[in-house]
Amino acid sequence: DSLGPTLVIGELLVEIVATTLGEGFRETQDLIGPYPSGAPAIFASQSARIGGSTAMAGGVGRDDFGRILTERLEADGVDLSAVLTDPALPTGTAFVRYRPDGGRDFVYNMWTSAAGSLTWTDALAAVAERAGHVHVMGTLLPRPQMAELIERAAGIVKRRGGTVSFDPNLRKELMEGDEAALATFERMIDLTDLLLPSGEELLAAGRTDTPREAVSVLLDRGIKEIALKEGVHGATGFRPDADPVHVPAFEVDEVDPTGAGDCFGGAYVAARRIGLGIEEALTYGAAAGARNVAVRGPMEGAGSRADLDAFIAETPRRSA
Ligand code: ATP
Ligand code: MG
Repeated sequence: DSLGPTLVIGELLVEIVATTLGEGFRETQDLIGPYPSGAPAIFASQSARIGGSTAMAGGVGRDDFGRILTERLEADGVDLSAVLTDPALPTGTAFVRYRPDGGRDFVYNMWTSAAGSLTWTDALAAVAERAGHVHVMGTLLPRPQMAELIERAAGIVKRRGGTVSFDPNLRKELMEGDEAALATFERMIDLTDLLLPSGEELLAAGRTDTPREAVSVLLDRGIKEIALKEGVHGATGFRPDADPVHVPAFEVDEVDPTGAGDCFGGAYVAARRIGLGIEEALTYGAAAGARNVAVRGPMEGAGSRADLDAFIAETPRRSA
């Protein structure tokens, strides 16, 4: 888009993963990592790799974990001018172990790391002033300090005629508990041009019990496009006055589900901003999500446009 890069603000983390299934970390065990991670970073990597102009704002420590992140994103072509190196705090970490039932146990150091020390800076203002789009991660909105940065950047970009996408990533229960987060969420919906929910999030955002009603409530409210993520059922795009467009998922063996939604989002937003149609953007999004779950590591499967074209050509679709 001629307006400037897609800006995503949020946590840069490294992830360290248990190599065995089980319950948490209360015994000595084998781990693998560090992998570059953090939902906004995964989004940024996939967005840049597919060819979208992408900028990230966040914080890392002055340590090897930080270097893993900045070297990876720089190699992908992400503009890191608003990534700050904290002089004192370490890079954020997430230790993850999968349970046999598919659940996950985490040990996080996010808000007491460099990831949590992000504030409004001249560098962030400069990127916001030349960005054409802001992608908002709902996970950050319950943090007032993060919500303020994100709303400020989104406001600047909207005033210049840019657009906003929003991955709500919020549970219904969470929405009902926290009044301030709920108010932020509602303001963000009002700024949103493109919503990227999964099933439950669509209902929470529309405050209705059926997907169809939720879609019409949200489109009536001024959202211009919804890309619904449906896991192994693929993805569906909705716009006002047009039939829904559905694409099936690709058939892969799921090795590591982390990052599917963020890779989908990075590919979808970049594809739309490059000017591709909804069906093509959904196909790239579904391919990016599937390719990423087929390998271990939160963003190890993020692909270039050529990688994704090859994946699309050679991978069968799942039957609905
Ligand atoms: P996350 O678990 O990262 O929060 P999400 O719930 O936001 O993800 P998903 O719907 O799980 O989003 O994944 C995004 C897209 O990735 C899906 O629409 C689908 O096309 C693809 N995808 C996810 N998991 C799989 C899978 N196991 N097999 C094939 N495709 C998948
Ligand atoms: Mg999600």
